[in-house]
Amino acid sequence: MDDDSRYSRNTALFGEDGQRKIAATTVAIVGLGGLGSHVAQQLAYLGVIRYTLVDDDAITESSLNRVIGAVPQDVPSMMPKVRAAERLIKSLQPEAAVTVLEARVTRSSEDGAATLIRNADVVFGCLDRESPRLFLTDLCSASEIAYFDLATDTGGENEDWYGGHVVYCDGRRCLSCLDLLDQRLIRIEQMTDVELENERRLYGLKGDLLGGTGPAVVSVNGVVASLAVTEFMAHVTGIRRPAPQLVYRADIPRVTLSKDVPRSGCPYCSRWGHRQPAA
Ligand SMILES: [Zn+2]
Repeated sequence: MDDDSRYSRNTALFGEDGQRKIAATTVAIVGLGGLGSHVAQQLAYLGVIRYTLVDDDAITESSLNRVIGAVPQDVPSMMPKVRAAERLIKSLQPEAAVTVLEARVTRSSEDGAATLIRNADVVFGCLDRESPRLFLTDLCSASEIAYFDLATDTGGENEDWYGGHVVYCDGRRCLSCLDLLDQRLIRIEQMTDVELENERRLYGLKGDLLGGTGPAVVSVNGVVASLAVTEFMAHVTGIRRPAPQLVYRADIPRVTLSKDVPRSGCPYCSRWGHRQPAA
């Protein structure tokens, strides 16, 4: 007789042992918007039980085009995105242990967020700002935690492309040594309002430079999130080696394995002493 248990179609791919490993993995998702909500939903289907969710934002009218699980009633009630994600996870996985933190992860988050994230086995960064990416790169490398960075990207004024990427940071590469962190944006994100006004006056600033107003479409986010969760599945179950860096070009359209070579001597990756230098 066919196995009709909940995870029978999962174990057909990666086995009972793989399923047990997924259930035993604690995951932190930082950013529960257009990317993170997809990740949360897929992890719940995959069979992850323990979650830490971090985001300081609430559902707004403009979230309703892409945040999975958000409903129109969440707008007047100013539902925190972490609570909408918790509701989504528990609807699929009632026994899930979900820790939520309504907080923004910043460079100076030596607080509850850092402690909670350090307890995870795998971290997903689903962010639209650069400084929390740097923070997660730092935190995850210091604690040797696998970090998946997800991003949707669009070209500048003269580059008409759109898509996204997934980077698997495991001590062999990270956002820093792949030159994927925009140092000017990190500086700008940490400015006070007065400093920001000066920057705007002296150098000019694109309106959407600080995130939140660029294009964001559910299907493009869904591809990027699906790529990341598939690499997570590979990482946890050992079914194959996770891809180091995947680039999705939705305009061509094509998914490619990036051939970018990380810079040597990375201060973050070198903390993973025993894992470096791996092939
Ligand atoms: Zn690195």
